[in-house]
Amino acid sequence: MKIMKEIKTYENFPKGIALSSNLVAISIYAIGTCILAGFGIVLSTLYLLYCLWIEIRVLKGSCVDCYYYGKVCGFGKGKLCSLLFKKGEPQKFVEKEVSWSKILPDFMVFILPTVGGIIFLVREFSWLIVAMLTILLILSFVGNALIRGSVACKYCKQREIGCPAEKLFKKEGK
Ligand code: SF4
Repeated sequence: MKIMKEIKTYENFPKGIALSSNLVAISIYAIGTCILAGFGIVLSTLYLLYCLWIEIRVLKGSCVDCYYYGKVCGFGKGKLCSLLFKKGEPQKFVEKEVSWSKILPDFMVFILPTVGGIIFLVREFSWLIVAMLTILLILSFVGNALIRGSVACKYCKQREIGCPAEKLFKKEGK
């Protein structure tokens, strides 16, 4: 007899998971800012403002409709969202159309400093920039994939209800 392993979902994620996923995101923003600081304070400040806009965009556009609104989700955003925005419509979350072009702005968070870092290296080689670029790419690809695949999405109740973003990533991962 085949025994199916049941994957449990969290009603409220353990704070350690929310903390780790935020640590990955904050580290990406911080390293991106440091890389772009090589081009001056204006560019690095603009980049930080862009990261802030990305966070607000997710809270306003997705978290308001998510099952975890007012709760601790894998990214800790459900609680924060309920403090800043009114609850939306859960059905909207499931019906949302997510495509690679729609989530391109999220990827720009690491694409911008990566391009900046490469330009910097062409102009003036620096091991510090090489190290920061390496960590940035590891966190963006491996870090994010681990957080999503092994903890956040895996134990997410919204995934069970329906999550277009998770479906898109899963389709590509096949
Ligand atoms: S399945 Fe993943 S992307 Fe979708 S709501 Fe849950 S944590 Fe977020």
